[in-house]
Formats: sequence, structure tokens, C-alpha cells
Amino acid sequence: MKKRLFLYTTLIIFAGLLSFFTASIYVTYTNNLSLAKDTVMETAKIYSDLYTPDTNLASFVKAGDNTRITVVALDGTVLADSGVPDLSTLENHLNRPEIQAAANGSPAAYVRHSATLGVDLIYYALKVNIAADGGGNNYIFIRAAIPVAKIDSYLFRSLPLLIFLLLILALLCFLFIRGTVNRIIAKFNSVEQNLRLLSDNSNGEYKSDLNHIGKGYEEIDKITREIGDVALVLQKNFNDLHNEKNKLDYIINNIGDGLFVLDENKSVVLINTAALDIFGVTPDIISKNLNYLCYDKTLSEAVEDCVSSAKSALFELTLNGNIYLITVKRLPDTVLTTIVLSNVTENRENAKRREEFFANASHELKTPLTAIKGFTELTALNNKDESINKYIDSITRETDRMLSLIGDMLKLSELENSTNTKNINSVSVSLAKVVDEVRETESTAINEKSIIFKTSGDCTVQADPGHVYELVKNLVENAVRYNNQGGSVTITIKSHNNSGSLTVSDNGIGISPEEQTRIFERFYRVEKSRSQRNGGTGLGLSIVKHICALYDWKLSLKSKLGVGTEITVFFNCL
Ligand code: ADP
Repeated sequence: MKKRLFLYTTLIIFAGLLSFFTASIYVTYTNNLSLAKDTVMETAKIYSDLYTPDTNLASFVKAGDNTRITVVALDGTVLADSGVPDLSTLENHLNRPEIQAAANGSPAAYVRHSATLGVDLIYYALKVNIAADGGGNNYIFIRAAIPVAKIDSYLFRSLPLLIFLLLILALLCFLFIRGTVNRIIAKFNSVEQNLRLLSDNSNGEYKSDLNHIGKGYEEIDKITREIGDVALVLQKNFNDLHNEKNKLDYIINNIGDGLFVLDENKSVVLINTAALDIFGVTPDIISKNLNYLCYDKTLSEAVEDCVSSAKSALFELTLNGNIYLITVKRLPDTVLTTIVLSNVTENRENAKRREEFFANASHELKTPLTAIKGFTELTALNNKDESINKYIDSITRETDRMLSLIGDMLKLSELENSTNTKNINSVSVSLAKVVDEVRETESTAINEKSIIFKTSGDCTVQADPGHVYELVKNLVENAVRYNNQGGSVTITIKSHNNSGSLTVSDNGIGISPEEQTRIFERFYRVEKSRSQRNGGTGLGLSIVKHICALYDWKLSLKSKLGVGTEITVFFNCL
């Protein structure tokens, strides 16, 4: 830039100087020429005025100093010429332009070459009346001429001085331009150094002082100041970003879950310490493909599927003996996919232990309880003492309740152990038939409460009949149990194409919105005393939820406190 700026400025200024110099010479020359023309015209005028009919032509023309004076007759014959002693050598001058101009009454100066003298001359002629009385047709031409060389000589004399001045001026300009260009470039260099400092600045500290560039050029100073301001803003933003990044890195690397992020080409763009440990890789995995990170086919295929289809997924996988809950999520409005690996081994083991304990305890309790129930019945049969009958009744009731609870607990643990329908004895089951059976079983409670029981529709499902019976029984039991005296229970079975639904609705006590989210939890009861009084265990809806999950059936609950409840199960029917 420096060279170009210097070259262009020098060329422009030099071209300007040269043009000025040429124009000056031209103007001087034309001025001199015009002056010379004036002189020639003046001289011709003077000579015309001096001329009298008795003038001695030879001495008359000689009087001119440096000026050629020619007297020409009206027919063009040269009568006298100060520059040519031998007039016989001169041809007729009538066709000379200055003579022609004078003859035509419009005298004018002409520059042309004199064949006689061999030089360029400025000519001017006047037509003069030489009659003594000034009348008649007695005219001559008086012509004055001065050599052009005389004008040129002035010019040539002053030319060395002009050239000298031009060179001095050019030199001064050159030095001035060089100084200015150097100063401007020095400023730009400083600005550039500062900008480089800003872009090289990797630790977030912008150390340069823009003031040292100095003042002098308002525009550059303005740019410098602006850069200074931008630098400060950038520095602040950079520091903020740096701090945020540090915080984020700290958080990401200290969470227990493994986390990595892939771009659209399945290359790793971010990975935290936990994920590095899980996969046993080093941080240089960044920018490498997913295949370098994870050799597990199931995981890489599932992740690849999500990356290419921009889908999210949630699944469990065993890696190196640990169970991981894997969450794959496409970040909105980006091409990035995050994969989080949560180690749920301990949770799963704890849950398994709990379930095992649940099942074992239920089993262990069932045998002595059955024995107690048997002995109580035996005691009741042989008892003659009326006073202890109420104790026997109480033992029987509580034993029944505990057996029912244990029965539910065993059902639940059995359902929890069945993770898929493969090992289930599935047959075609008519829902209407199951509803009738349940109605039969629950008839005592239905009659006690004078419940109006209505059923409609039918549909056949492929499932374990025991599971279908449990599901319907628990829903009907609740509809009756949490109903009012003289209330109604309606069971509606619908089927359309391959999908069907079973709805159990009642106009009982209803469930508040806050409780609705919790009633499917095991042992959760809105009103414990009412549930217990009516033989509830708090496990009924938990069993319903597990059966639905096993068959992938959907459940929906609509309820309003004091109005009633409606629970619908959606399934595929045959
Ligand atoms: P429970 O054996 O106590 O009935 P469930 O798991 O079957 O246990 O139900 C959980 C709780 O949900 C019940 O205790 C009851 O408070 C509430 N509930 C269930 N069904 C109904 C219903 N149809 N109307 C009102 N409340 C209900």
C-alpha cells in the first residue's frame, strides 16, 4: 500500500507540476507572441504615420531596429526592404496574406516563414495613402515584421530557470509526499498492530494502548478512537464469554452423567469427562466420527438414526456391565444432537431388590395368613362362647383384608417382572364377558349401595384373561367403592376397525385435579380411611397401570370432584 500510495501521489503531483509548467510556457509564449504582434502593429502604424510622399525609402526602411520594414507598391512590387538590400531578388508581394489583409481593409498579423530571410517572422501590413492631399487612389503598403525567434529566445533564456524551479518544486513535493505517506502508513501500521493484538489475544486481555499512535490526522484519529472503543467492548464480551465458557466447562465436566454432542456428520463436537471415562477415550476424540467413540452397535445405530432423522429418543442400554439410560435429543434450530448417558445401574438394582423383597415378603406372609384364616374359621365353627364371636369376626375381616393386600402385592410384583408380552399366555378375550363376570363378583357391593349398573358394547382383545379380569375388576371396584348410595356405574365398550376402548364411568365422589396425577402410584389413596373401610389396598390402579404398560394400552382419566370419574383404556382389538 505504501509503495502504491507513494507512487500514485508522486505521479499525480508530478503530472500536475508538468501540466502547470507546460501551461505556463504556453501562456508565456502566447503572451510574448501577442506582445510581439502588438509591437509589429505599433511599428507599422508609426512607419505609416512617418511616411510622406518625399520620404527616402532606403533610409526610411533602415531606421527599424531589429524590425524588418518593407514598403510595397499597390501592385505588390517591393519598393524598399530593410532586410533585403537587393530588391531584384524579391518577388511580387501582392499575394502575401498580410498584404492581402491590408488591401481588403482588415489588416492582421501573420506568423509565417520568410523564404527570403529563411526565418519565421510576424508580419503586419497597413495600406497607406501617399497622395499629398490624402485623396485619389495613390496607396502603398507599409509592412513591419519581427522574427519569431526573438520571442523564442526570451523563452529559451528563461527556460533553464523554469526547469530548475520545476525540479526544486518536484523534489520538495517528493520529500513532502514521502514524509506524509510515511506518517500515514506509520499510523496505519500502529492501528494494524493493535488490531492484531486484539485478534491474537487468547487470554482475554487486550493490552495495547491506542493513544501511543499519536494525534495529527483527524480521520485516522477517529478510526483509532473507534477501534479503541470496539476493542474495549470486544475485550469485555470476550472476558464474559471466557468466564461463561469456563463456568460451563466446569459444570459439564463435573456432572455425573456422560454427555457428548454430535454435529450433522456425526462428528464429536463436545464431550465431557464422564463420557470420556464411559467410553475410555481421550479428549482428542473431538472432531472424530461417532464410530471412534463408541463401538457398541446398538448405541451407535440408535444415535445415527436420531442424527439423520433429527429425532429424539430415550432408551436403556448396558455398557461395560452398567445400565445407562440414554437420552438423544436434537438441539432446536441447530444441527447438533446431544447424547446424555445416565448411569441407572444402582437405581435398577435397588428397584429390583425392592421388587424381590416385595414379592418374597408377600409370599412369606401369605402362608401364615392363610393358616390363621383357616384356624379362625375352625375356631368359629367350634365356638360355643357367644362373647368371643365378635373377636373371631374381627380376626376374619382383618385376615381377609391382609390376604387381599398380599394378593394385590403378589399380582403387582408378578406384573413388574413381566417386561414384555412374549411369555404371556395370550388368548382372545371378550370384554363384555369379563365385565359380566366382574359384575357377578361385585354384585354384593353393587346391591348394598343400590348402584345402577349399565353395560354396552363388546370387543375382543388378545391378552391374558387374568390380566383383563384384574383390570376391569379394579376399575369397577373403584367405581362402586367411591360412589354414593344409589349412584350409577356405566361401562361402555367401543370398537372401530382395529382399535377399541373400555370406559368405566361413575357419578361418585370424584377426584381433585392435584390427586389425579398421583392415584396411579402404589399405595396412594386420597382418603385412606374410606379406602380401607371399603376394602381398598391402594394398589388397584397401580395394577391397572402395569397391565396397560405391559400390553402398551393407553389410559385416560377424567374426573371432577363431587361429579364423578371416567377412566378409559384404549387397546387394539381383533
Ligand atoms: P384403593 O384400593 O384404595 O381403591 P386404588 O389404587 O384403586 O386404591 O385407587 C387409588 C385411590 O384413587 C383411591 O384410594 C381413591 O382415593 C381414588 N380413586 C380411584 N378410583 C376412584 C373413583 N372411581 N372415584 C373416586 N376416587 C377414586
